[in-house]
Amino acid sequence: MQTLPDAHGYFGPYGGMFVPETLMTPLRDLADEYERAKRDPQFQADLANLLGDFAGRPTPLYFAERLTAKLGGAKIYLKREDLLHTGAHKINNALGQILLAQRMGKKRIIAETGAGQHGVATATAAARFGCECVVYMGKVDMERQALNVARMRFLGATVVPVTAGAATLKEAINEAMRDWVTNVRTTFYILGSALGSHPYPMMVRDFHRVIGDEARRQMLAREGRLPHLLIACVGGGSNAIGLFYPFLDDEAVRMVGVEAGGEGVGVGQKHAARFQGGRLGVLQGTKTFLLADEDGQIQLTHSISAGLDYAAVGPEHSLLRDQGRADYVHATDDEALSAFHLLSETEGIIPALETAHAIAYAVRVAPTMRPEEIILVNLSGRGDKDVQQVADREDMLESVATPKI
Ligand SMILES: *Cc1c(COP(=O)(O)O)cnc(C)c1O
Repeated sequence: MQTLPDAHGYFGPYGGMFVPETLMTPLRDLADEYERAKRDPQFQADLANLLGDFAGRPTPLYFAERLTAKLGGAKIYLKREDLLHTGAHKINNALGQILLAQRMGKKRIIAETGAGQHGVATATAAARFGCECVVYMGKVDMERQALNVARMRFLGATVVPVTAGAATLKEAINEAMRDWVTNVRTTFYILGSALGSHPYPMMVRDFHRVIGDEARRQMLAREGRLPHLLIACVGGGSNAIGLFYPFLDDEAVRMVGVEAGGEGVGVGQKHAARFQGGRLGVLQGTKTFLLADEDGQIQLTHSISAGLDYAAVGPEHSLLRDQGRADYVHATDDEALSAFHLLSETEGIIPALETAHAIAYAVRVAPTMRPEEIILVNLSGRGDKDVQQVADREDMLESVATPKI
């Protein structure tokens, strides 16, 4: 298990390198450099220092006492990635990749972003290293996430609006790949999730496994045993694989990834639950489960949380699901919203809407478990970025329910 992907970047039948010929050599160079970096104690020490002093690791493992009491079942612990610099797990990966860029002598950094969280993490890392930074973002996303656009600009990044197609994350990735093909000699592409061509799904997983490594140690120190169940939300799948990976050989530890159920996963309803009615296909460099019609046309996805709103899932999750090692469920927009409020009110922690999907599943499952059992939820990010969106949505619903006289 721990030796995947294979030399060609496959996790069983998933993954690989589905890119234009011009990118094959740069991707192989990247994979080679990454292997050298991984074995270089100096690289590992530099990364550990950055994660500690700059990003704020280790993050706490927090016992959610009031949430546990309220749900009346298993003990719930939260891994507090929301307390990291920039407010989410994404900085772990951005720092790892920018250190690789330094080794490769590439001073120009590009990235794609959906909600803007990965763009902010990348712009932060680029500012820290004095690198030029260009972030591609769908025009629709720029309007929805104006605060993150401003943050990226304050950090010195250029945010390029992408107007093609639905003008969201998928189109932004296309544009970033186009830039990389043109400028590959000078430019490093920092990809934001466990997606895309080899070696990205492996690298991104490795840069996030610190989440699971820390949580495992913290849980043993605190409880003297491992958790019974791990829960994480799954967009591309980076925070989930980061938590799951160090536990893969612990057979007694169950793992559940929570996808975005949107309006519901029935026929004609919009969602981003790739494992509910998705099919095998290739999107943006990798072979995996995705939402497409019978002709292979990628479907429009929907989620209340921009970070889970993407048509494909990271290839390693497809394998874990085939193997039955992890299970994948979904939570709807409404379930995520009520979990958002529940965690805010019972623990004083406002979670990101992405994270609220993981909480929603904990709410569902905890009461069915025994009090001596332990659930560990990855609290992937904080909700500041979503406050305006939730407030607007609920004002709107309220004014529909109670018309002014
Ligand atoms: C981006 C993001 C996600 C989804 O991305 P993954 O790669 O699936 O982890 C989840 N939570 C937060 C807070 C995010 O910013």
